[in-house]
Amino acid sequence: MKLAIVGAGVAGSYLGNRLKDDGHQIEIFESSKKESHWPVCAWGASKNMLETFSKNAGLNFDVYVLHQGKKLRMDLPHEKIEYLDLKGLVTYDKYHWEQDLCQGLKINYGFHCNPVSDFLSNFDYVIDCTGFHRSLLPRSAQDFIIPSYEFLVENVSEIDEFYVIGYKGARGYFWFFPLGDGRAYMGAGDIDRNYYGISEFFKKYPQAKILKKIGRPIRLSPPKRMLPFHNDNIIGVGESIGCVFPLLGEGIIPSLICCDIFIDVLNKDSTFDAGLYEKRVIKKFGYYDDVYRIVRLKMDGKLNSIKHFKLLMSMYRNMKREEKRFGFGIDFDQMNRLLKAL
Ligand SMILES: Cc1cc2nc3c(=O)[nH]c(=O)nc-3n(C[C@H](O)[C@H](O)[C@H](O)COP(=O)(O)OP(=O)(O)OC[C@H]3O[C@@H](n4cnc5c(N)ncnc54)[C@H](O)[C@@H]3O)c2cc1C
Repeated sequence: MKLAIVGAGVAGSYLGNRLKDDGHQIEIFESSKKESHWPVCAWGASKNMLETFSKNAGLNFDVYVLHQGKKLRMDLPHEKIEYLDLKGLVTYDKYHWEQDLCQGLKINYGFHCNPVSDFLSNFDYVIDCTGFHRSLLPRSAQDFIIPSYEFLVENVSEIDEFYVIGYKGARGYFWFFPLGDGRAYMGAGDIDRNYYGISEFFKKYPQAKILKKIGRPIRLSPPKRMLPFHNDNIIGVGESIGCVFPLLGEGIIPSLICCDIFIDVLNKDSTFDAGLYEKRVIKKFGYYDDVYRIVRLKMDGKLNSIKHFKLLMSMYRNMKREEKRFGFGIDFDQMNRLLKAL
């Protein structure tokens, strides 16, 4: 098939790579200019999963790993501290990983696409991989996003481990993700836009040198709330259709899982079965809706561990089942303590 992929982020790059190998004719359109194209993200994800996705795309993930985490320190309200045992959480060089995925693909940089971009009419299907922007699909009334921004910093060798500060009411969190050699991503997502931790960080580490300041909101509404996934010959993949884990604002692995579902459905038949795709995505990310409801209840101060027991159990059971994909240990008592402390 002749396919246009709009957006050269995680989903667009991986899809381009895999679909070209499957014999499709691919062209990518990316709004940023080549020299300024940068993956806006803290580059943290589970190695266990990225090894498999990389292998599928002919890459060796080991060469991209920047920092392999052991323990994540989490500061909570009322001076409580929790440590998560890390089981595969890494930061990796997402810039070069995506660049390498795109080797040999035709990419048109500086093309900001919209639903009436006429050059898109030359394709059998147009894939909306524009992430948060969802530039080609209709808006969803249930969309929910959290503002965020971060700094790429260097000269901070004092901390060399994952560190986060959870905000009261799960209204966001501050993160410090080490990238090795004294570099790190440091930033915050915060529904109230206070971004506690960022100015405190600069006061504590005045020698920190800022290399980049980047940001955009992160979508927290899960796939079930991001319909439609398709409109005429346009199909959404990745964060554009809500493939982000709502508790963490973590979208790399969910977007890649979504790509695999898309590829599977596309290669099944000579025409794309949009209904089947929708069904499979909703099923795969079904429990993300429970997690999203927990986050929203917590944000509104309405989460009750007895009343919402079923919802909480669904989150725990599903996260435990997918423990490897998260890259940290899932423990029921610790999850309870965290939710109570927030
Ligand atoms: C500050 C921040 C930190 C994050 N940290 C993490 C993390 O550590 N781990 C994690 O798992 N997730 C993280 N996320 C979420 C994660 O980055 C995204 O969910 C994931 O990148 C989504 O992948 P995607 O391919 O769907 O979209 P993106 O990776 O966002 O790619 C979308 C691409 O589309 C392009 N584009 C947009 N509109 C148009 C248009 N109209 N025409 C053409 N091109 C267009 C953009 O320039 C971009 O290149 C973070 C997000 C933010 C904002």
